[in-house]
Amino acid sequence: MGVEVLDAIAARRPFRLGELRAEPEGDRGWVVRGPDNGEPREVPAEASAIRALVRFDARGRYRPLSGARGLPGGWFVRCRDAAELEWVLETVYPLALVHLRQHAEGSLRVVGLDAALARQSGRYAVAAELSPEGRRRATSVVCSACVRVPLWAGARPAEPGAIPCPEPCSVLISFCREAALWERERPAPATDDPAAPFADFEVEGNPLRNAYLRAQTVEARGRA
Ligand code: SF4
Repeated sequence: MGVEVLDAIAARRPFRLGELRAEPEGDRGWVVRGPDNGEPREVPAEASAIRALVRFDARGRYRPLSGARGLPGGWFVRCRDAAELEWVLETVYPLALVHLRQHAEGSLRVVGLDAALARQSGRYAVAAELSPEGRRRATSVVCSACVRVPLWAGARPAEPGAIPCPEPCSVLISFCREAALWERERPAPATDDPAAPFADFEVEGNPLRNAYLRAQTVEARGRA
């Protein structure tokens, strides 16, 4: 995983990273494009402009997870050289290239969900109560919404431009906390509200919450 992205940068070949596409331009430059969606507009290669661009998803929801699918589309950034290209990619997907390089070198440190939940404290300590089935279900639901690939869960990349994820993120930990509470008092799945905040799992219409609760219901029926 990732060698093709690093090789493509070195060889000045087009490549994908997550939902981004990059292609060489001229002798040294690059163009980074977001998902196809509407008439493309040029965004300057400035941190504030790029962060503003990816702060909200295509539906206008705040993106608390940098790898969340659904980047807004219809934009491109021109980069002077490979250094600026890497900076733009890292601005959209923090640590992606670092993790790709470490993975390619075999030095990426991987921490699993059990270890990550065991070290939670305070408000998040309850997350460690989540059952093994709940941990598996939570990982499947939350990580499916992300372009990073959870190596810590044994996943392997299935698409070009996949980014290795070495450790459960705070969004997944937060989801596990809610899922542990749902095991105490089980809510019914509700109708998805596409406008519900991505990581507000207490909101009934939250699509990730409902995907988890629906999967739980299906699995329970299968066991009955
Ligand atoms: S833990 Fe899952 S959701 Fe979080 S960054 Fe890694 S792959 Fe994405």
